[in-house]
Amino acid sequence: MTLPTTDALRRRALDILTRLDVTPEQGDDLHARSPITGEHLFGLRAATPAEADEAIAAAHEAFLSWRTVPAPRRGEVVRRLGELLREHKNDLADLVTIEAGKIRSEALGEVQEMIDICEFAVGLSRQLYGRTIASERPGHRLSETWHPLGVVGVISAFNFPAAVWAWNTAVALVCGDTVVWKPSELTPLTSLACDRLLAAATGQSGVPRDVHRLLLGERAIGERLADDRRVALVSATGSVRMGSQVGPRVAARFGRSLLELGGNNAAVVTASADLDLAAPAIVFAAAGTAGQRCTTLRRLIVHADIADALIDRLTTAYGKLPIGDPFDDTTLVGPLISEQAHDAMRQALSAAQSEGGTVLAGGGRRLADAAPAARYAEPAIVRIDGQSGIVRQETFAPILYVQTYRTLNEAIALNNDVPQGLSSSIFTRDLREAERFQAADGSDCGIVNVNIGTSGAEIGGAFGGEKETGGGRESGSDSWRAYMRRTTSTVNYSDQLTLAQNVSFL
Ligand code: NAD
Repeated sequence: MTLPTTDALRRRALDILTRLDVTPEQGDDLHARSPITGEHLFGLRAATPAEADEAIAAAHEAFLSWRTVPAPRRGEVVRRLGELLREHKNDLADLVTIEAGKIRSEALGEVQEMIDICEFAVGLSRQLYGRTIASERPGHRLSETWHPLGVVGVISAFNFPAAVWAWNTAVALVCGDTVVWKPSELTPLTSLACDRLLAAATGQSGVPRDVHRLLLGERAIGERLADDRRVALVSATGSVRMGSQVGPRVAARFGRSLLELGGNNAAVVTASADLDLAAPAIVFAAAGTAGQRCTTLRRLIVHADIADALIDRLTTAYGKLPIGDPFDDTTLVGPLISEQAHDAMRQALSAAQSEGGTVLAGGGRRLADAAPAARYAEPAIVRIDGQSGIVRQETFAPILYVQTYRTLNEAIALNNDVPQGLSSSIFTRDLREAERFQAADGSDCGIVNVNIGTSGAEIGGAFGGEKETGGGRESGSDSWRAYMRRTTSTVNYSDQLTLAQNVSFL
C-alpha cells in the first residue's frame, strides 16, 4: 500500500486551514505531526503562562455577562456552531485523520458526534429543569434552580481531538458557562479549526468571543487550569495518570472536576451468543481506531464451550484486516499515534508472553519501509489465563486478551476485577444472563451493553465510568448538571413563621 507523502499531508492541512481562515502561529514549542508518515508538519507557538492567565481572566469576565443571557438565547450560538460543523464536516474530518490517524469513516463519525451534541445542547437550552418539592410547612414552597457555574477548563486527549471538546463546550455554553480549552499537544491543528468555527459562530450570533478561549500547550497549561480558582470546573479527558494528577490539584482548591480517564473494557461471550453478530462487533471494538479508544475492547471473556469457534473466526478476520493509509476507503486500521505507543504495545505483548500468554494473531509491524517514522501495527489477539500483571493495565493499542470462563458469576467477577470501570458488553441470547449482567451485582462499569461491542457510544446517553476511570459523566442524559450549580429556595408565602422539624423559638 502506498501512503501519502508528508508534503502532501502538509499541503492538505494548510489548504483546510486556509479555507477555515486559520493562520497558525509558527513557532517551535509544539509540533503538529501526522502519524500517517510519523513526520513533522509544522512548528507552532504554545501559549505562555501570561497568555494562559489572560485567557482565563477573559473567559471569567465573559462569564459574568454570559450567565445572565437566557439559556434558549445561549442555545443559538451552539445551533450556529452545529450548522458550521455540518458545512465543514469533510475538512474537519480530514484534519482528524491527518493528526490522529483515524480512518475516514471514523473521522467523519467523530464530526457527526459533534453535530449531534450541538443539536442535543440546543434542545437542552430549553430544558435545564429544576424541581418543585413538597414543603413540610404550610404556606411554603421549596424549589431548585440550576445556575451557570463559571469557567470550564477542558483538557482533552489526542484520540478524540474534536468530539470531546464539543461534548463539553456545547453543553457548557448552553448552561451559561464559558470555556478555556487545552487540547492534546498531539492534535493542535484540529483544535485551531474547532476554535475558529466557534469564533465564527459567536461572531455571527453577536456573542462575545471570550466565551471560548483556546490555549495550545503541553501539560503545564493543563496544570494552570487545574490550579486556577477562577476555573470552576475542570473537565479532563485522558489517562489515569493524568487524572490522578489533575483530580487532587483541583480538589485542593475545592474546585470541581469531571474526570474521563482510561478504560480496560471487557466483553463476555456466553454459550448462547449469536457468533455471526458477536464476531464482527468484537473485531470493530478491539481493532477499530487501531485500539485507541477509551472504550476499545481489551479483554474477551468467552464461555469455554465456544472459545475455539469464536477464536477461529476472530483470527481469520484479523488476518484480513486492511492496515494502512487511513485516507484510503478500504483501510480499517490506521497508524498508532506515535513510536511510544508502538513501544508500549510491543512491551505489553512480551509481558503477556512472559506471564504465560500466547499470541494467536497479529502483533507485527507493517509499512516500516514505506514510512519508517510511522507505526502501523497488526492488531493482536493473545490467549492468556488469569488477569494478573499486564492484563490489568490499559495499553493504548490494539491488543485483545482472551480468557475463558464456565459460570456467569465467574465471568462477571473477571469483568469487574480490574482497576478501571468504563465500558462492558455481554453477547447472549439468554434474557436472564443479559439482565444479570446489567443488574446491581453485574458489571460495575459506567457503560453496560448487550449484543453490541464496548465502543461507539451515542451522545444521548451519559458517558463515563467508575473506579480509576474517574466517575465523571458527560455528553447526554442529565450530564449537564455537572456544568451548573444548584440552588435550593424555600419561599414562605404565609404570614406565619413556622420552623422546620417543629422547632420552637421565641
Ligand atoms: P494523556 O493523559 O497523555 O493526555 C491527555 C491530556 O492531558 C493532554 O491534553 C495532556 O497535555 C494533558 N495532561 C497530561 N498530564 C497532565 C497534568 N499533569 N496536568 C494537566 N494536564 C495534563 O492522554 P492521551 O494519551 O492524550 O489519551 C489517551 C488516554 O485518554 C487513554 O488513557 C484513554 O483511555 C483516555 N481517554 C479517555 C476518555 C474517556 O472519556 N474516558 C476519552 C478519550 C481518551
